[in-house]
Amino acid sequence: MTAPAPLVVVSGPSGVGKSTVVARALELDPRIWLSVSATTRRPRAGEVEGREYFFVSDGQFDALIADDGLLEWATFAGNRYGTPRGPVEAQRAAGRPVLLEIEVQGARQVRERVPGALLVFLAPPSWEVLQARLTGRGTESTEAVERRLAAAREELAAAGEFDVTLVNADVQQCAEALVAWAIVPDPATGGGSPASE
Ligand code: 5GP
Repeated sequence: MTAPAPLVVVSGPSGVGKSTVVARALELDPRIWLSVSATTRRPRAGEVEGREYFFVSDGQFDALIADDGLLEWATFAGNRYGTPRGPVEAQRAAGRPVLLEIEVQGARQVRERVPGALLVFLAPPSWEVLQARLTGRGTESTEAVERRLAAAREELAAAGEFDVTLVNADVQQCAEALVAWAIVPDPATGGGSPASE
């Protein structure tokens, strides 16, 4: 049996730029598949059902947990977020590298449940940069920003638990590193191939 394609988890504090780096990585190599999470959070302006998230009710989220439908899940800043298990397993089995963009508690669960997953911590260049990004985003209430800042302080302390830390000083460089980890080199061509050994 062939091994499933790589699973790369990108984690780190809210506001560090995970989405931007991940989006650039997908542009660089469209063979990579980004998991779409389920969340009980309300959609923000411009977010589309099934693209940024599957927006679900508390009851629907409970059902996903009860059916063992989530690879991992966590409560973050008052809402629940989880990775649907089936699509991740199907894509990896089909040879497509998978990226998860999740917070730290979820990354810990993946570490326990998925041997061989690579855990990447995306860190801000400084606390001031992160604070400015979280405060200036303008999409959240003051209370929500405070909750995210408190969570960010705790999340930064978890960097040492990860396989590797990337400092997000340069989006392109971080994205290139993610692609390199997600794509297994093809020994025949020397180039990247999503197929694994
Ligand atoms: P936001 O509300 O800003 O979209 O996301 C809040 C946090 O939840 C971010 O750190 C994001 O990476 C994380 N997140 C998104 N989807 C998931 C998920 O499926 N599982 C976990 N554990 N965290 C997630």
